[in-house]
Amino acid sequence: MIDLHNKLAALIPVLIIVLFLMSCDIKPTFQQKMPGKKLGHITNSRLISVGNEPEVWLTGGRDYHQSYFSPLNSINDKNITKVGYAWSYDIDTTHGFEATPIVVDGIMFSSGPTGTVYAIEATTGEEIWSFTPSIDENVLRKVCCGIVNRGIAVWQNKIFVASIDGYLYALDASTGSIIWKMDTIEDRKRGYTITGSPYIADNKVIIGNSGAEFDARGYFSAYDTDTGTMHWRFYTVPGQPDKPYEHPELEVASKTWSEQSLWETGLGGTVWDGMAYDPNLELLYVGTGNGTPYARQLRSPGGGDNLFLSTILAIEPDSGKLVWHYQTTPADNWDYTSTQKMILADLKINGENRQVILQAPKNGFFYVLDRLTGELLSAEPYTKVNWASHVDKISGRPVETLQAEYFKKSKLIIPGPAGGHNWQPMAFNPKTGLVYIPVIEAAATYSMPKEPFVYQKGGNNSFSKYSFALDSASSKTVSPEIKGLLKAWDPINQKMVWESNTSGPWSGEMFATWNGGGVMTTAGDLVIQGRGTGFLVFLDANTGRELHSIDVGTSMMAAPMTYMVNGIQYIAIMAGLGGAAGQSYPDDSAAYKYGNKGRIVAFRLGGRTVPHPLEIEHANKGISKRPVERQGTLYEIKQGEKLFLRNCIKCHTDSINSQGIPTLRNMTAKTHVEFKDIVLKGIRSEFGMGNFSDLLSEQDVFSIHSYLIDLDWKEYEVQNNRNDYH
Ligand code: CA
Repeated sequence: MIDLHNKLAALIPVLIIVLFLMSCDIKPTFQQKMPGKKLGHITNSRLISVGNEPEVWLTGGRDYHQSYFSPLNSINDKNITKVGYAWSYDIDTTHGFEATPIVVDGIMFSSGPTGTVYAIEATTGEEIWSFTPSIDENVLRKVCCGIVNRGIAVWQNKIFVASIDGYLYALDASTGSIIWKMDTIEDRKRGYTITGSPYIADNKVIIGNSGAEFDARGYFSAYDTDTGTMHWRFYTVPGQPDKPYEHPELEVASKTWSEQSLWETGLGGTVWDGMAYDPNLELLYVGTGNGTPYARQLRSPGGGDNLFLSTILAIEPDSGKLVWHYQTTPADNWDYTSTQKMILADLKINGENRQVILQAPKNGFFYVLDRLTGELLSAEPYTKVNWASHVDKISGRPVETLQAEYFKKSKLIIPGPAGGHNWQPMAFNPKTGLVYIPVIEAAATYSMPKEPFVYQKGGNNSFSKYSFALDSASSKTVSPEIKGLLKAWDPINQKMVWESNTSGPWSGEMFATWNGGGVMTTAGDLVIQGRGTGFLVFLDANTGRELHSIDVGTSMMAAPMTYMVNGIQYIAIMAGLGGAAGQSYPDDSAAYKYGNKGRIVAFRLGGRTVPHPLEIEHANKGISKRPVERQGTLYEIKQGEKLFLRNCIKCHTDSINSQGIPTLRNMTAKTHVEFKDIVLKGIRSEFGMGNFSDLLSEQDVFSIHSYLIDLDWKEYEVQNNRNDYH
């Protein structure tokens, strides 16, 4: 009897494992290798003592400092030429990748475009599980800059990810099954999406959102990691003045806005990228975004700093209360977000050890702040800047030049709305003391449209016009001030130490600025960067000399990372172009040559040549055949142009090289027939084309279609050098 009982008891765990395997999509091979092992075991103590575990990469930026630095050095400047392909993991999408994987206990976790998540064995690339959220397709048309995701948080055996349509998920790290799911969007008729990564602070998961080009009112919220209960929500700008303040900080902020502010536009200030949490100081740092509409004289007539736009906030994660704030761009006028990723560093400044926060926001100045108090320690331009002469050290404010204001007269301003530095991670190497910044050097002409501003709920309300000095006839850039650079920056002396031109073959064209992706640096004296060319480039961290490059065959923009398993160091990167860059691929980019199917690619010493995807065939460009019959009156064509510029061009650029998203020029017969249903019924939402029925009428769609056909006819006429239409 006792024997039988014991045998039954022994069978119970086996039965549980069998039932477990039957209920979820796990490959038995993995369970056999690691029976009962719980994945994703990252804890506060592990994060604090990450120095004892050189082999791991625990957050987007590896550590709580978000440094994008690894102490591993078995791959180094001496042996780097021996590094080659280890494995790859194919992902069936042509949207871009902006996330950096996390590796803990030999398992890699990362995320893809809509909030998909992948759990992979880090030595082989073998899938353990994957997760695909179901997406509300009505949200897709509200995506400003490509369907992308900037990463996940792994915490106490759970994975946290936000989907593009604004849901926050807690997944079981061992199985990928949903533990809880919360709707983080408070008004789904507004232009909210999420592309950013959740961050963990004090056992809470913090998430913001995107949508300042539309009509989002920025906020970020803290959810309980175990239950999903919301603990607090912090709004970055005041709401409608006839409603009570949600928290006391907004009463202070409201004094920096005029009473006539365009409250209905939501005002912006979205939190779509950089955060950091210092577990020793117990402070959460959050960067906020630009204003809506862009032009301050329209947004807040009569002035004011417009808190908390373009600001670094220090928050007590327990209560959600503001401890200090520093506004990098008072009264934003140029889409100068301060959402860029922040690095927590410990620097000796004027003989004193300071705990600092480092940020290179879009506005072109590199900031060093004391992260206990928010005191400005220094701010100097890390790129060309003409909107401000300098940052005043006493007031902490930028001193604007006459070039900054474009409300009455258009101005060429640098940085342009892409910023001097965007979402691409920068990295800090404590060994060299340098910060490596992927810099964008691109001026833009800002101007105001002639027609009056009309608010459109859920629509694009940024309103100011800007152009990166493009010659519309040739689509070539006429401004010399367009290039991409990788700069090594000394944050103590606020000086550049070296720079490397990352423009590739495209210097002077807008794509040049997107060629250089996010960076990672290591104790092996390396700086590593993926490029739009499809090359992974290894530079000497001290001198910037290019030591090696690998032809990956897939265009890259996300930051790489590194880890060690069983004594072998690997380097991995999510490869695939997209985001704001991914709307046009130059002819000689990897994305054009091999297509843009995403994959994670890993490298190691003694690795092979990277297998390339098959080359894709390209149809001849230009209008080779007679366009479809013209439609619409001249008035409708003109209306169509206006509607196209407001609603369509942010994705469907007029560049003839566009491959990622159709140009809408020379469309197929099928697309012409289905045009109305594509726009108003969302019949191509699976490819990322959202449903515009809440914004556009049938007449509007007819006008846009008429305008596009008119463009084809104009090109056809030029090409055939004849005038057979009127
Ligand atoms: Ca923006």
